[in-house]
Amino acid sequence: MAKPSMNTHTTDLHLGLALQPRRLHQVLLALIAAIAVGLTIALSKQGWAAAAMLGVALLSLALAFHFNRRGQVARAASVMLLTLTVVMGGLVFLSQGLHDEAVIAFPGLLIFASMFSSRPVFIGLLLAMVAMLVGVVGADLSGWHASAVEPNSWGQLVNVVSILAVTAFFVWLLASDLRRAMARLQAEKIRLQESHARIEFLAHRDALTNLPNRTLARDRLSQILSNARRSGSMVAVLFLDLDNFKTVNDSLGHGAGDQLLCLVAERLMASVRETDTVSRQGGDEFLILLGSVEGEESATRVATKIMEQLAQPLWVNGLEVVATGSLGIAMFPRDGADEDSLLKNADMAMYRAKDAGRNAFRFFDAEMNSSVVEHLHLTAGIRTALTNGEFRLHYQPQFELATGRIVGAEALIRWNHPTLGFIPPGKFIPVAERNGLINDIGSWVLDTACRQTKTWQDRGLGGLVIAVNVSPVQFRRDDIEREVATAIETCAINPACIELELTESLLVADSVHLSAVLARLSGMGVKLAIDDFGTGYSNLGYLKRFAVERLKIDQSFVRDMTQNPHNDGIVRAIIEMAHCLQLEVVAEGVEDQATLERLQTLGCEFGQGYLWSPALPPDEFAAYVQARQPAEPGAGRPGKGAILVPNS
Ligand code: C2E
Ligand code: MG
Ligand code: MG
Repeated sequence: MAKPSMNTHTTDLHLGLALQPRRLHQVLLALIAAIAVGLTIALSKQGWAAAAMLGVALLSLALAFHFNRRGQVARAASVMLLTLTVVMGGLVFLSQGLHDEAVIAFPGLLIFASMFSSRPVFIGLLLAMVAMLVGVVGADLSGWHASAVEPNSWGQLVNVVSILAVTAFFVWLLASDLRRAMARLQAEKIRLQESHARIEFLAHRDALTNLPNRTLARDRLSQILSNARRSGSMVAVLFLDLDNFKTVNDSLGHGAGDQLLCLVAERLMASVRETDTVSRQGGDEFLILLGSVEGEESATRVATKIMEQLAQPLWVNGLEVVATGSLGIAMFPRDGADEDSLLKNADMAMYRAKDAGRNAFRFFDAEMNSSVVEHLHLTAGIRTALTNGEFRLHYQPQFELATGRIVGAEALIRWNHPTLGFIPPGKFIPVAERNGLINDIGSWVLDTACRQTKTWQDRGLGGLVIAVNVSPVQFRRDDIEREVATAIETCAINPACIELELTESLLVADSVHLSAVLARLSGMGVKLAIDDFGTGYSNLGYLKRFAVERLKIDQSFVRDMTQNPHNDGIVRAIIEMAHCLQLEVVAEGVEDQATLERLQTLGCEFGQGYLWSPALPPDEFAAYVQARQPAEPGAGRPGKGAILVPNS
């Protein structure tokens, strides 16, 4: 059996109050020394009986020493205590009875026993001591063995000093152990208090922003509501969801996302009174509780302030980011009588603000309930539409303005619902983006567009570039490259026949990851365009960083540019800027000849719009193209424009 080290703790007491082998070792050494001194004195005085007893005691202590070294601390301590008690009792008997100096060792022994031995050992020792003293006195009084009180002597002094020294050593060691144990106990207590405080904090605070969390916010809301019920005042519950957080998080990394959330938390705190509550509900959602508001106007003021604060650019990782949010507001008592209904309605209003184009706030109104039901129906409907093949792709021709050639088409999804009829993409695409079904829709669109391109090429309609809209949500997944590559390879088409239309908001966060993905897609030969340009955060900086080739000016600027000088200015500026950056421009929403002519003057390369045609089903599109010009021999060279058509 392995020999336990001298530092092994003998019991499971963590505080060091248990007898340690090291301590017993020290005590035994001191005792052996003291008894050796006593033995020497006894021998010098020729007190043979005492000397014999001390000799036996030395052997017995050596045995205890041995036990202790083997790690049997309790046994060693018992042997030691028993030996000492017997020896001291013996000395008392042999020498001066109650007057003997050995008596003063008893309290020391009892202290030791009380601290480190079991109760039976302690009681046993006490009884043994009392019995021995009674025996000594009895023997003396009965005349059987008279105790002789001797005058003080140096030898006696040495005995007393030895006993005192050993006892003092004992007690001093114990006391210092005790002090250390107390100090450890105190430190433990402080640590425990700190961790309790931390647990308490974590249970009620958001660890990232230190704002109250969902639980505490709910508590506060119920408090505010009971105050409001008593005083008859109003409460505003504001639910905020950041608009671009996911893009920032996915593209700049979680560290940047966290930084953004902390900065937003600071701005929110700065927008409300100290008595109001700003809480993080999780993710990029915040809840703001305004107690005792006078009415909608006060809530509007705060919401406006929050929007203004958020609209100020933030610096995250050295990049300028705008963290706009959509805010929904529910008022107590008008929009709900309890926490649940107010939170639900504020949330609903927030979604309405998002649908309204984001970066906006909306008050709850009862009509919203029905739109949520509609939203739920839409989600279920999209699933069914995917499985039942209810979606179709229509193609809107795109023209080269200088020559009038059809150079390609934009694939636009169409959903003819069996009972609800035509549902415009503007209505169901945002829903699909929210519930993730856009990924399935996106794959279907890509596959269908590639297959259609192949069919047309086989029928002699080559040279067309088919533009496919790709939602930012699809880019958040890592398999967009694989999806594009698979669709193109499966159909065996030239990648340059496919153009991906990206939204401006996707590029805003400017991530290294995204630019690498776009560079790889471009490397495959796929074309890239920025859709609805001018509606996002038109930041010239990002355009240079991404491998895009074309900008599509949003139709809201193009449609009325001939009547609206402001929009004409914007269109002109976008065209000039794009040309400086060697990008081609596509104008969307060209509805009349005047607009076409103005765009031609401004040097815009391409256009699409109702002037020529809306999006058409595949067969009609093919007929449309063929009606204007039969397939030419050069067909199959994408991007050159295949078919000649008149300008109007
Ligand atoms: P978008 O990509 O900007 O598509 C152009 C929209 O403008 C289309 O609306 C088109 O029908 C419409 N348009 C074309 N010419 C004119 C015109 O001269 N005047 C006017 N007023 N409008 C014109 P649509 O088809 O309703 O699509 C709306 C949006 O839905 C699209 O805007 C696009 O963002 C999205 N979308 C459509 N199909 C898909 C798709 O397959 N995937 C994804 N992710 N989004 C899609
Ligand atoms: Mg588009
Ligand atoms: Mg567009």
